[in-house]
Amino acid sequence: MMSDCIFCKIVEGKIPAKKVYEDDDLLAFHDINPAAPVHVLVIPKQHVESLADCDASHAAVLGKLFVKVGEIAAGLGLNDGFRTIVNTGRVGGQEVYHLHAHILGGPQPVGPLVTRV
Ligand code: 5GP
Ligand code: ZN
Repeated sequence: MMSDCIFCKIVEGKIPAKKVYEDDDLLAFHDINPAAPVHVLVIPKQHVESLADCDASHAAVLGKLFVKVGEIAAGLGLNDGFRTIVNTGRVGGQEVYHLHAHILGGPQPVGPLVTRV
């Protein structure tokens, strides 16, 4: 655990969160500042800053995380689709440096992926 990491503190229960799923490796909870009617974050419990910091040792947990994204979305009733985003680093717009996948859902389409250049 990284002592100054907000998502590690959520894993440790030091900061409250509206959890939607938890197992030994993963935690999912509602985003505090939702950008869509449904906005959930899925994180590995073990601290890793971003996809730029992952290597082969992270393959299993990343695979598990993305399988769980679909299961969590189904559990949230997002039967008509959803957006999954992983922001990485400054250019990617990452604000919290503990790897997380956003799940964004409707009922309306969540909008364009990015503004085209
Ligand atoms: P990023 O820009 O790093 O991909 O996304 C970070 C997300 O974490 C943002 O959508 C932000 O609203 C959310 N967030 C930041 N701090 C907290 C918190 O303390 N609790 C929860 N539930 N979400 C947070
Ligand atoms: Zn962390």
